[in-house]
Amino acid sequence: MKTTDPIYSLSVSEALKLIQSSFSPLEKETVHLEVSLDRVLHNDFYASMDLPVFVNSAMDGFGVIASDVSRASQQNPVMLNVIEDIPAGKYPLMQVQNGTASRIMTGAHLPKGADAVVPIELTNHYSKELKKFPEFVEVYQPVKAGDNIRFPGEDIRRGDIVMRDGTLIRSRELGILGMFGISDVSVYKKPKVAVGSSGDELMMPGETLDPGKIYDSNSYILKAMVDKSGGVPIDLGIIKDKEHAVIEAFDIAVEEKANLIVSSGGVSVGAYDYIRHVLEERGKLTFWRVNMRPGKPLAFGEYRGVPFIGLPGNPVSAFVGFNLFARCAIFQMSGMRDPYIRIEKVTVDQDIQSDGRQSYLRVILEKKNDKNHARLTGHQGSGNLLSLIHANALLIVPSEVKSVRSGEELDALMIDDI
Ligand code: AMP
Ligand code: MG
Repeated sequence: MKTTDPIYSLSVSEALKLIQSSFSPLEKETVHLEVSLDRVLHNDFYASMDLPVFVNSAMDGFGVIASDVSRASQQNPVMLNVIEDIPAGKYPLMQVQNGTASRIMTGAHLPKGADAVVPIELTNHYSKELKKFPEFVEVYQPVKAGDNIRFPGEDIRRGDIVMRDGTLIRSRELGILGMFGISDVSVYKKPKVAVGSSGDELMMPGETLDPGKIYDSNSYILKAMVDKSGGVPIDLGIIKDKEHAVIEAFDIAVEEKANLIVSSGGVSVGAYDYIRHVLEERGKLTFWRVNMRPGKPLAFGEYRGVPFIGLPGNPVSAFVGFNLFARCAIFQMSGMRDPYIRIEKVTVDQDIQSDGRQSYLRVILEKKNDKNHARLTGHQGSGNLLSLIHANALLIVPSEVKSVRSGEELDALMIDDI
């Protein structure tokens, strides 16, 4: 099936726009709270009740009528009759009346009649090894009505919006869901991303390396980045440089209902680079080549209806291309409201030559006088993973720029989290 001609050689921002507009959030599913960490909330979440739910004590102490203790002092303590013990979780049965108090623990329901809590520190029971229920309490300081009490709805009111659709569920969001007693959480489905490494030269780690062969490293980089970006990797393994091998692998992705296929290698102009050809025959090649460095021979299209991103084979090119484009596609499908892409302003600490393509250079950022300073981490060859390991950011040298002077300010894409 030959469709319209693909667009050749886009700028990074044109390519990004095209990719962004090609993906939308997946449907929802319900998962248990226990496994909803790092998922993306589907639908706005409204408070189903007030929080706190009931009026309760903010301290360990005694529930009193504030006016009873308004003249209390160290010299003239006010003595109250203790009528009930209220540990957290108990619903009080007695009503506090003038001259009486109930012993109460933090978080316990305030008894009727009481309008304040005297902390234990302000009574004769502080510093005593007092676990036994006391008959009397001496209060040494006054409290005002409302003191040390938490009122219903003080934190969150019923009907308030608590979290927006598209919120990433982190530990604290889990806590809030738990607070409302939610056990089943509605989240966006995770995008399934099929990952394959193409190349006849590739062998699996653990195998004995044959002459002329190298170990596959891209599979591991890409599957890990899929996972870190909120997707579920589907491993297509090593794909031979044969047309039928490419078709077989991509067919597996279709059967597995992948939402995206990401491959590395085989999209350049080599005699055995079949991927573009397969796409043009059985799907669509939307664009090929992005005016960037590293990672120029990057392809985007679809295979039998499944979106496809073809990254170049050099590991650093694959890493950069994934970060810019595949990550954006995954975020888009996962419904995330604020995709976690951090760009920082940095001061470049050395002269740098570029070739006019938009470049992503491996740098290490260091804070000096509150400013981020960037230095190249070493050899910038697109196969050199070592300098990528030492980098915590990719310095973005814009297109058209051929030289950067030490002291200039540029943007850098942070990569320390992926
Ligand atoms: P290609 O894009 O297929 O022309 O590959 C470009 C370079 O990247 C070649 O040197 C390949 O050997 C290398 N390469 C391709 N795939 C991988 C991989 N999965 N792991 C490591 N290196 C690779
Ligand atoms: Mg190849």
